[in-house]
Amino acid sequence: MSTQGTRIEEKLYQNRYVVDAGKPHIKVRDHDIPSPALKSLVTACPASCYSLNEQGRVEIVADGCMECGTCRVVCAATGEVEWNYPRGGYGVLFKFG
Ligand code: SF4
Repeated sequence: MSTQGTRIEEKLYQNRYVVDAGKPHIKVRDHDIPSPALKSLVTACPASCYSLNEQGRVEIVADGCMECGTCRVVCAATGEVEWNYPRGGYGVLFKFG
C-alpha cells in the first residue's frame, strides 16, 4: 500500500499502545495551582494526554502517549511532571519507525 498522500492522522492511527495498567510512566505532581508551563500541556501534548479538571488542576492519562518528551522538556524547570519511559513491552508501538 502506498503511503503517498496519507494524512498524519491516518499514519498515527496505525500506531498501537500497550497499557501498563496501574503503572503510568508519567505522573503530574500534586499541585493546587498549575504553572503556566504545566497548563500549556493541555494543548501542547500531541496525544491529548493532559486535561484540566473541575478544580483547575492538570491531570494526565498517559495511555496513548507517544513518548515525544514535550512535557518532560516543558516542565523540566518546574518539576511538576515526573517522566519515565514505560517498562519494556509497554507503551507506544510505532508502525512507521
Ligand atoms: Fe504527551 Fe509527549 Fe508528554 Fe507523551 S511525552 S504525554 S505524547 S507531551
